[in-house]
Amino acid sequence: MMITGNMLIGQSAVRGDKGSLSAINPATHETLTPNFGVGGIADIEQACTLAQQAFDRYRETTAEQRAQFLEAIATGILALGITLIERAALESGLPAARLIIERGRTVSQLRLFATVVRNGQYLGATLDSALPTRIPSRSDLRLRKIALGPVAVFGASNFPLAFSVAGGDSVAALAAGCPIVVKAHEAHPGTSELVGRVIQQAVAAHHLPEGVFSLLIGDSNLFGQTLVSHPAIKAVAFTGSRQGGLALMRTAAQRSEPIPVYAEMSCINPMFLLPHALSMRASEIGRAYVDALTMSAGQLCTNPGLVIALEGQPLTEFCNTAQEALCKKAAATLLTPGIHHAYLTGIEETGNIKGVTTLAQGCTAQKPCAAQATVFVTDAATFLTTERLGDEIFGPSSLIVACKNEDEMLAVAEHLSGQLTATLLLDDADLALARKLLPILERKAGRILVNGFANNVEVSHAMVHGGPFPASSDSRSSAVGASAIDRFLRPVCYQDLPAALMPTALQDGNPLELWRTVNGQCVLA
Ligand code: NAP
Repeated sequence: MMITGNMLIGQSAVRGDKGSLSAINPATHETLTPNFGVGGIADIEQACTLAQQAFDRYRETTAEQRAQFLEAIATGILALGITLIERAALESGLPAARLIIERGRTVSQLRLFATVVRNGQYLGATLDSALPTRIPSRSDLRLRKIALGPVAVFGASNFPLAFSVAGGDSVAALAAGCPIVVKAHEAHPGTSELVGRVIQQAVAAHHLPEGVFSLLIGDSNLFGQTLVSHPAIKAVAFTGSRQGGLALMRTAAQRSEPIPVYAEMSCINPMFLLPHALSMRASEIGRAYVDALTMSAGQLCTNPGLVIALEGQPLTEFCNTAQEALCKKAAATLLTPGIHHAYLTGIEETGNIKGVTTLAQGCTAQKPCAAQATVFVTDAATFLTTERLGDEIFGPSSLIVACKNEDEMLAVAEHLSGQLTATLLLDDADLALARKLLPILERKAGRILVNGFANNVEVSHAMVHGGPFPASSDSRSSAVGASAIDRFLRPVCYQDLPAALMPTALQDGNPLELWRTVNGQCVLA
């Protein structure tokens, strides 16, 4: 499949005429061909209008139709073979092996949502029988969830496959019955076009209305804000910087019809090394921590950016091991020159904060966008009084906070802002302290892990990838896993509808054979 540099608006390939942009290989700073035409207001208008026109027909497709559509996208992505992997590697600087794993994740995500759609539980079908003789009487009430409407999706730079054109946000919206208008991330437009063409072809092959999917190319904040402002758009999904997420939230809130923005932004994923576990396994944990920190050049939203432990000999051993392991880590290529610049700035500013010292750095490399992994150390008093230390430095950077006692550790936990994850490294002898930390961390994070590292975000039914601000804009939802579909649904209650008008999921006799809540009981009837 050739990359053309066109946008995909419904079934058309459209050359943007408002300028051009090119992907840059971050490892070499080489400009990649072809260049891409940048779209304008007319293209946003066209894509959003088509999405609006597609909505009613698409949202009422059967579960089987939508599931087969999602599975066809998965098959199409695999069929792109090495072409997709090579292009994504050129545009992102990520190694092919990592991208092959990411492709597997993308495909399994699509297949998971096919099962979610077939299963039908996401509809939340609920029936309350009429009580005509009760005083006052009760009507027949039936609830199902319906799709919200067309969704604007902003792909992430750090997952060019799994959080981009056919990534978690797109697939959850499509599964819910929402058409999507995707803004390609300017760092990987070629990867976006390849995957976009697969979706475009699947739309045609499954006889779906063309507006179910469009892929736009824009090169300014204004472009994204115009997309979010379009009246046809009913929700936004975003992964990226806190600044970008907040800007889109403001735009969405200022519309004449405000809409929800599901933005995954920034956090530092605290890891608490509890005293007994640290005294038993300091070196082992230190090595594993450095491996987790440098995975994908630290460009993961679950990166272990903060370590909290009690000062003393076990923490010294942990630091010594981490220092030794980090010194051997090769410099890694960051995703874009912009991200590289932000990383260098963040490292420099943190290193200059009074009370913070640099524990260790990885190897240097005289290559464009190469980043030295960096670990800083500070004390709890400095952490608690320096707001900047609670902010993410996107890339392979982390801060160790040494606490004088358990009270300080609890104070650091209480001081944290919202997080995607919080981790406890513990042994049985640490359970009393863990019991004190757990209720605090429940208030702070979307996922709490024990004796592991947060980087593996399983795509499954129970996963939560979200958390209080600034980790995400809406802590009530998840960006990964089956429950991600809930973001793009809303409940509708049908009161005293005649059988002839009743949606199939709510009809007497349960023709779709769904598990439904009938008069408060969960039943297959
Ligand atoms: P980004 O700058 O937030 O951009 C993400 C997308 O949002 C792009 O399509 C961008 O397009 C758009 N956008 C950004 N600001 C906008 C605004 N004010 N109005 C409208 N649209 C806007 O993210 P990035 O380029 O991927 O990376 C930059 C930084 O984001 C990183 O250094 C890191 O701090 C953070 N980041 C965090 C995570 C995480 O998982 N925690 C992941 C990726 C990035 P335009 O630039 O064309 O407007």
